[in-house]
Formats: sequence, C-alpha cells, structure tokens
Amino acid sequence: MKNTNSGKLGLEVINEVPWGTHLCFFYDSINDYFDILKPYIKAGLENNEFCSWIIPKDLETEKAFEILQTAIPNLDCYQRKRQIEILQYSECYLNKGRFDGDAVITNWGNKLDKALSAGFDGLRVEGDLSWVGTNRWRPIKDYESKIDNVIFNKKILVVCSYPLKKIGASEIIDVMGNHQFTLIRRNEKWIYAKSFVGMMDKLLEIQNHIRRENIELIKQDTLKTTFFHISSHELKTPLTSIKGYTQMLIKEQFGAINEQQKKVLEVLKRNTDHLNHLINNCLSLVQLQAGTMKFMVEKIPIKSLIENTMDIMYPLADSKKIRMNVQLADGLPSLSIDVDKIKQVLINIIGNAIKFSPEGVSININVKKKNEYILFEIQDFGLGIPKNEHEKIFDMFFRSESIRNKNIKGTGLGLPISKAIIDAHGGRIWVDSKIDKGSKFSFTLPIKPKKALKINFIKSLPKKSNF
Ligand code: ADP
Repeated sequence: MKNTNSGKLGLEVINEVPWGTHLCFFYDSINDYFDILKPYIKAGLENNEFCSWIIPKDLETEKAFEILQTAIPNLDCYQRKRQIEILQYSECYLNKGRFDGDAVITNWGNKLDKALSAGFDGLRVEGDLSWVGTNRWRPIKDYESKIDNVIFNKKILVVCSYPLKKIGASEIIDVMGNHQFTLIRRNEKWIYAKSFVGMMDKLLEIQNHIRRENIELIKQDTLKTTFFHISSHELKTPLTSIKGYTQMLIKEQFGAINEQQKKVLEVLKRNTDHLNHLINNCLSLVQLQAGTMKFMVEKIPIKSLIENTMDIMYPLADSKKIRMNVQLADGLPSLSIDVDKIKQVLINIIGNAIKFSPEGVSININVKKKNEYILFEIQDFGLGIPKNEHEKIFDMFFRSESIRNKNIKGTGLGLPISKAIIDAHGGRIWVDSKIDKGSKFSFTLPIKPKKALKINFIKSLPKKSNF
C-alpha cells in the first residue's frame, strides 16, 4: 500500500523518507552526482511528482537532459507533460544577480501549490549549490536553516547537493547541521549513509505513531470540551434556582425565619456563588483553549457594575469580618463591556483579596478615570506576592509556593482568565505587591472601545502588562 505520508527517494541506501524532508548530499565526481540524481528524479517522475532540477554550474541544460535521459528514456514525455523543469542556478537562486533566500523559499511554496493544482502528488527538488562561493556562504547557510520549518509536513522533498571539491570542512559542518540527512558519494561508493537506513524506518514508524496519537488526542480533547459544556450547563441551571430560592428565603418572602436559619441560608448562598464562580472559570478556560469565547457587549453604568458585584462579595467578606471600602470617582461614564465577564474579573480579584487577607482587615476598591480609560484598583493588606512571582501569577495554573504551603485552596485559573478578558476588552491588568504588606491589583478598560472584542489567547498568555 502506498504510504501517503512519505515520499520514495529511489536511492538504494534510503528508499523512503517522510514528506517535508530536507537532505543534503556531497559528491566527489560528476558521476557520483548522477548516481544519486538519476534514481531520485526517476522515482519522482514515476510517483507523479513535479520535479524541479537545478543543475550544477558547469553543466549545460541540453547536456544535463541527455545524461538524465540515459536513465529515463521517456524523459521527453515527462517534459511535454510539464512534469519536470531543468534550471540553471541563476534562474532559480538569483534575482538580478542577487541571492534572496526568503524569495527562493517563497518560490518553493508557490511551486508546490502550482504542482498540486496541476494534479501532481507533490514537489521534488534537487538544487545543486556548486555555484556558491565562500562570499555567499552566510546567506546560503541562513536559507538552508529556514527550509526545514517551511517544508515541514508539506508534500515537498528537497535535496541540496554540494561538490566536495569546492567546499571546506567548516562549510561541510554547516551543511550537515542544516539538513535532516546527509549522503556522501565518493569514488562511486557510499561513504556515509548506510547508518541512516535503519534509522529512517524507525523514524517513519515513530512519525506514524505520533500522527495516530495526535488524532486520538484531538478526539479526546473534543470529547472533553463537549462533556464540559454539557455538564457545566447541567450544573448551572439548578444552581441558579438554588440561589434564587435561597435569596427569597433570606428576604423572608415565604415567611419569617429566625437568626440561626438566616445564617445557614447565607452560608448556602455564599457557597452557591462560589460554585457558580468556579464553573464560570472552568468554562472560560475551555472556551479560551478552544478559541470559542464569545462576548455579549452591553452598556452599563459603572456604579451598577460595582453594586452588582459587591452584592456577591459582601457575604464572603462578612464571613471573614473584612471591611470593603468602595470609592467611585464622581461623573464616571457608562462602559460598553461584556458585563458578566468583567464581573467575573472583579469577583476573581476581589475574591483573591478576601482569600489572601487575614480576618478583620480592610480592602479598598477605587474606580476612577485615567485618560481614555477607567482604572479599577483593588488593594488588600494581606499576604502579598514576592516580586519574582509578579509576572508568573498571570500564567495558567500558577499558584504561589507559599500559598500552597499554607493550604489555601485555589485553581490558578482566576488571574490568567481575567487577563485574557481584560486584554480582549482593550485594557491592561497588572499588580503591585509586597510580601506581608499586601497587594494592589489594577486594571483598565477603555471608555470608548476601539474594536470588536476579540480574544488573542490560544495556549499561553502574554506575560507582562505594559500599560
Ligand atoms: P487561585 O487564587 O485560584 O490560586 P489565581 O489565578 O486567582 O488562582 O491566582 C494565582 C496566584 O496568585 C494565587 O494562587 C496566589 O499565589 C497569587 N495571588 C493572587 N491574588 C493574590 C492576592 N491578592 N494576594 C496574594 N497572592 C495572590
């Protein structure tokens, strides 16, 4: 069965390599060169690949064609089918006498697209670099070092050939370092290649294994996301009604309750809020990783935003006898934001301030205008954060060593999620903190959002705020 993930090299020493392989070969005489070139191009043509052959500097195109024809008698048929091009080095590598590696690489990409749309199964390149003198070595070396990344996983095979007589030991080391495989043909014998044969089979096996594992992982990831979406919805719906009824009971809408009953109901409400918040953070994590976080923008007066949030936070602060001083500057405008998500940010930060403060202290919450932004500041006088962790706390799952030792519960999700939400709103978030003195978390939101809210986050988050 044809392995569509790999291309047949056609060489006696290495038969098959994964698509996207970049090899080099060193040859002694022109006969050694053709010992590799002929079977390589022949295999490409027979495999319905488009072949691009950049011939050695001292060879004429007609002569090159004739020599290749000795191995491929119907070469002219392939040429008529436009399946092969035979180029002088200047036609491929130079533009007005200048070598531009990036342009050459772009050209390989274009050639592949053209070959595939013309019905070929891939692109096979043989580029001879006998024209490269030591004065051009640096740009060639850079070009060679970039090819691997560009052709990886694409249906391209690239072989670069170098005449042993024209390059020195240091250049040989450069070339070997920039190619996945090295072949050396000297006096019509293989000097260096045999050791790769077993390795190639092993590599192909490993590559196929990784591919299979990858498909399995993608399936499991999709399953996890779907499962989480369904279960979080199933959890949130009953939670909303538990919270609603608890609130009605506290407000005595179903009849009078005594102090003890009220206390129990308040604990119930606090825990319901906490659970709801945890589900929101987990849901955000899944949405951020899948890139499916959506924003529903609405206009809200800042006062209402803060009041709504404080309704949730006061019971938590009360449970630790923490006083929350809220100060809103006069004349604050309304904001166009995703209200639930910004509330989630405030709950994360104020929740942390409460969690990491000792009983009976205060927390200050200030909101004011700063240039084109609204600045929110949440200051606590709790444990504080060591300086070397100020950036890390915005990384996914980061939790301070000292906090973990104190057995304070948490997930390490709140801050990175908050940062992603604030970034998406066009704001910034940062922290000032001193160990044992407390922390001040600040974030900004633009008064006039400039663009549609968009999440930049994929797998990791930007680390530093530069507001
Ligand atoms: P969690 O609080 O669930 O651990 P976060 O992402 O909200 O996750 O916070 C990450 C870490 O940052 C915390 O574990 C803690 O080490 C540190 N941190 C956050 N806020 C504060 C704060 N106000 N005071 C001290 N440390 C804090």
